Amino acid sequence: MDGYYIWTVGCQMNKADSERLESALGQMGLEPRVSPKEADVIVLNSCVVRQSAEDRVVGMMTSLKPLKQRRQGKVLALMGCMVGPKTDELEKRFPYVDVFMQPQQYQPLIDLLGERMDIDTEGCVGPLVARPDVATYIPIIHGCDKFCTFCIIPYRRGREVSRSVAEIVREAEMLVKRGVKEVTLLGQNVDSYGHDLPDDHGLGDLLAAVNDVSGLERVRFLTSHPNDMSDHIIDSVAELDKVCEHINLPFQAGDDKVLEDMRRGYTNDEYRRLIDKIRERIPNVSLSTDVIVGFCGETDAQFEETLALIEDVKFDKVHAAAYSNRPGTIAERRLVDDVPQDEKKLRLKAIEILQERIATEINSELMGRDFDVLVEGRKRGKWFGRNRNDKLVFINDGEPELDLAGKMINVRIDKTAPWSLQGTIAR
Ligand code: SF4
Repeated sequence: MDGYYIWTVGCQMNKADSERLESALGQMGLEPRVSPKEADVIVLNSCVVRQSAEDRVVGMMTSLKPLKQRRQGKVLALMGCMVGPKTDELEKRFPYVDVFMQPQQYQPLIDLLGERMDIDTEGCVGPLVARPDVATYIPIIHGCDKFCTFCIIPYRRGREVSRSVAEIVREAEMLVKRGVKEVTLLGQNVDSYGHDLPDDHGLGDLLAAVNDVSGLERVRFLTSHPNDMSDHIIDSVAELDKVCEHINLPFQAGDDKVLEDMRRGYTNDEYRRLIDKIRERIPNVSLSTDVIVGFCGETDAQFEETLALIEDVKFDKVHAAAYSNRPGTIAERRLVDDVPQDEKKLRLKAIEILQERIATEINSELMGRDFDVLVEGRKRGKWFGRNRNDKLVFINDGEPELDLAGKMINVRIDKTAPWSLQGTIAR
């Protein structure tokens, strides 16, 4: 057994989980392969937040069946949010899968591989750390306590459990030794970090501790919840030199009744006031948000409230998704998914057109300005990276042999577009 293939669907939490599993498999002597055919261990890291994501995983599982039947020695694992506490249904549906693992539960696969490879896995899974990249993720809190009516995550990832400040700082220090320059502190709701810890440390305290890690250049965090965005967190972003001025603050819907049905716990007005406070304290902040269109019972007039909020706030980025009914959620049990699919598509299109205009306007203001860009790698034949505001920047004049990866480069913007910027190295 010498190669593995991990296929990941869904959110950054899943990507972070996969990176950690990669780290563990690497410590066991396995190497990454580019396709399931070439791998002895195949892991599908699944997502059920939207029907389309689940369909993709089921399609992939089905396509792997003949491969597994031809080569029984291959190990096939299903991991992530498709796997709940009980696996009987999944075992019936996919009897050829060797191991089912809930999010962050790597041990069953590690144990199985240890047995098959006849190795002691005790030290292998050790502290799991993400693979070395310029910018990477550190999960700081698992699960979610919010129970928004449309969301399956609290049922699949469980209640909130924070990791200790000391453990996170140690991981950041280890990552820096491996060449990482930027970390994103990750969780479904990072703003509630620490409420379950004995020493009462919140995200603001954690940001300060990670900010002090020597050699680390940038710190980000993802995702926030409007109800838990405290003044301390806002002040920390404003004051800590390595913490980047970018906040992802999902509002999900613009109408108060829809927000209530979603059980989000804030109103349109409260959300707007929070944005005003953030902008007052951090004038150069960039903002992104998540929106759901076509939630149960959402009328045209209610959707207009969502458009108005996007128009007024002027986010740098909007991630919009059509509502899809997820079995096991409160919305699935108590509300009716009654907005037709075609209408959901029209609403998505309306947001896309509006946001493209807003992002074009915001980015065109950046023409001629200089930004520090942390270079992450090469894409489309150019070096690329991000500025502190999380804007994707392509560098037009960096030759491949310069090896800019991991370097902080001052770039002058000479071309703007809604989703990215281009520039040249400022002399
Ligand atoms: S805050 Fe709401 S949407 Fe986000 S993970 Fe928790 S339950 Fe899901």
